[in-house]
Amino acid sequence: MGRVVCEHVVKKFGEIYAVHDFNIDIADNEFIVIVGPSGCGKSTTLRMVAGLEQQTSGNIYIGGVLVNDKEPRDRNIAMVFQNYALYPHMNVYENMAFALKLRNVPKAEIDRRVKEAAEILSIGQYLHRKPRELSGGQRQRVALGRAIVREPAVFLMDEPLSNLDAKLRVQMRTEIAKLHNRLKTTTIYVTHDQVEAMTMADRIVVMRDGVIQQIADPQTIYDSPANKFVAGFIGTPPMNFLTCRLERADGLKLIAQGLQVALPAAMADKLAGVVGREVTLGVRPEHMRPATGSGHAQATVEVVEPMGSENYLNVRVGSQGMVVRVKPDFKPVPGEAVAFEFDLGKIHLFDHDSGITII
Ligand code: ATP
Repeated sequence: MGRVVCEHVVKKFGEIYAVHDFNIDIADNEFIVIVGPSGCGKSTTLRMVAGLEQQTSGNIYIGGVLVNDKEPRDRNIAMVFQNYALYPHMNVYENMAFALKLRNVPKAEIDRRVKEAAEILSIGQYLHRKPRELSGGQRQRVALGRAIVREPAVFLMDEPLSNLDAKLRVQMRTEIAKLHNRLKTTTIYVTHDQVEAMTMADRIVVMRDGVIQQIADPQTIYDSPANKFVAGFIGTPPMNFLTCRLERADGLKLIAQGLQVALPAAMADKLAGVVGREVTLGVRPEHMRPATGSGHAQATVEVVEPMGSENYLNVRVGSQGMVVRVKPDFKPVPGEAVAFEFDLGKIHLFDHDSGITII
């Protein structure tokens, strides 16, 4: 009932493609997070599914029904916005009951649904308050409550947590995940926050400039990014990128100033086309460690950032900067030379021009 299918969905504003050939098949009960930088087309995509924006071309199906020409109210969806969009003159109960009243749902049924949603969201004691008498977190719960009482086939959420402070955002993230575990309603959730994407999604859709870059579960996105953009977008601190040359000398080697990496023979087949050329090496900060011997990279430490449970080292390798995550007891001083070795099973190589993943 909550399956959502987008087929070749396009949205143009004038000559600009806000969304370009968007395709996805979302299973009933799935939690999908659409993530990407500002302006990549996330909200436009969600608004097309909601029916708030008409696609330029392509088809959208909700619960097996083609909804291209259906009004938002006839799509069996409920939307939760960043600004909550509560009615200021109504109390919490009335805000949650409003859409049901419009649909002539019997009073007793409205009462049951509102009280049940209030119980799930722990806002039972605020039912008679007006939105202005609530904190940001409580207002967001009411906004969620209003979506829940409608018992839609699909929840559509557009950056619902971005007006909350950092601590509350983490709390509400868990609440929404719990809510989904309980209700199992198909959810499409838009955010620019990659941590929300990683922690909440069954599958993540990474977008850039209106184009889907990759659709996969969070671990696959992290371990096997489709290209350099996805690799750099997911992960904190982000993946390090180093321009180097791939040379054949006694096996395959990556060479750059301050860097020499002999690659495992097993990689040779995939790299045959780029020998003698520049490639981009990708190494996550957690996949490097101080070397016992000469290591792969000869670095100079610039800044040490203690995070409590670990230290982030900002280092320079030749003219290229990197960030390394190390144990808290490893505290070199700025200016110190440190050799690092990479976990060669975890490195990535990208085509220097297109950014497409080679390994
Ligand atoms: P953000 O995270 O900043 O909300 P987004 O990824 O949700 O960004 P969209 O709001 O979907 O991005 O916008 C995608 C592109 O379409 C942007 O380039 C934006 O400027 C453009 N756009 C969005 N709405 C309109 C509109 N009504 N008229 C013209 N251009 C628009």
